[in-house]
Amino acid sequence: MIGYLGIDIGSISTKGVIINEKHEILASSYLWTEGNPVKAVKEVLVELEEKIKGTDITILGVGTTGSARKLIGTMLGACSIKNEITAHAIGTLSRYPEVKTILEIGGQDSKIILLEDGIVTDYAMNTLCAAGTGSFLSSQAKRLGIDVEDFGTIALTSQHPTNIAARCTVFAESDLVHKIQMGYDKKDIVAGLCYSVASNYLNNVAKGKKISSPILFQGGVSKNIGVKKAFEELLDSNIFVDPDGHLMGALGSAILAEKNSMGRIFDFSLKDASFETMGVECKGCPNHCEVIVVKKDGKKLDAFGNRCSKGAMVK
Ligand code: SF4
Repeated sequence: MIGYLGIDIGSISTKGVIINEKHEILASSYLWTEGNPVKAVKEVLVELEEKIKGTDITILGVGTTGSARKLIGTMLGACSIKNEITAHAIGTLSRYPEVKTILEIGGQDSKIILLEDGIVTDYAMNTLCAAGTGSFLSSQAKRLGIDVEDFGTIALTSQHPTNIAARCTVFAESDLVHKIQMGYDKKDIVAGLCYSVASNYLNNVAKGKKISSPILFQGGVSKNIGVKKAFEELLDSNIFVDPDGHLMGALGSAILAEKNSMGRIFDFSLKDASFETMGVECKGCPNHCEVIVVKKDGKKLDAFGNRCSKGAMVK
């Protein structure tokens, strides 16, 4: 059976999927990046290889997306290296061809993608303020002594969500501490935080955008049913969450790998290779570009970060 591999390397999590020609997910892996995308991707490969052990799946193309897509794409000899907007849109459209709005909240960033007849018409990303992201929710859960996985269920039991200032992380955190000291019920604070994440997102990331149904909510935070409910109330609309919503970027990358495949068989033993990356200043002109050189087993694989082809010669 022919398969394609898609990898989505974010700053918080690394996701990998293997799909078949019908774009069904045959195997998936979701791990924490922990500041080391190379190690995380190697671990994802170990997991995926284990999951397809004993099958006749041959991988004929690799696609990467996410913040470390270039580095990992170079390492794995990817035939497709695309930005998150394209990958997420393609992954989501493969399951929901009618989708008009994709709300995405990940560990450290969030985005909105607007589509019309299967084409991306507008998008926005927020990588600056963490107030509306998964890492913010995790740190607040810790502060409240709650497991972040239980956040959503606890939020749903609240009848009176506490109003939490949602403008930015600093405001939200100090307001949260204030509300705890005032003696507000924990479940109401948790529900309030879910609302603050949704409203921060709508006021910042989705500001000025026309949100039309059908709306898909994805990324790690989409697993939080409290935030989903908050979006439904604030937007007065049904919000759909796919069980594989956290894998849409990887799925889109795998589909793009199929489209761009050159028929070369992917070798899982790449996970055992030793990769090295280093920043080298190009002295070719006064721009002094910081060129990232990727080496495999000591041999230069590729370089990027250069503003002209001269920089690609840096060793
Ligand atoms: S990569 Fe090109 S633009 Fe950048 S420093 Fe080298 S020569 Fe100059």
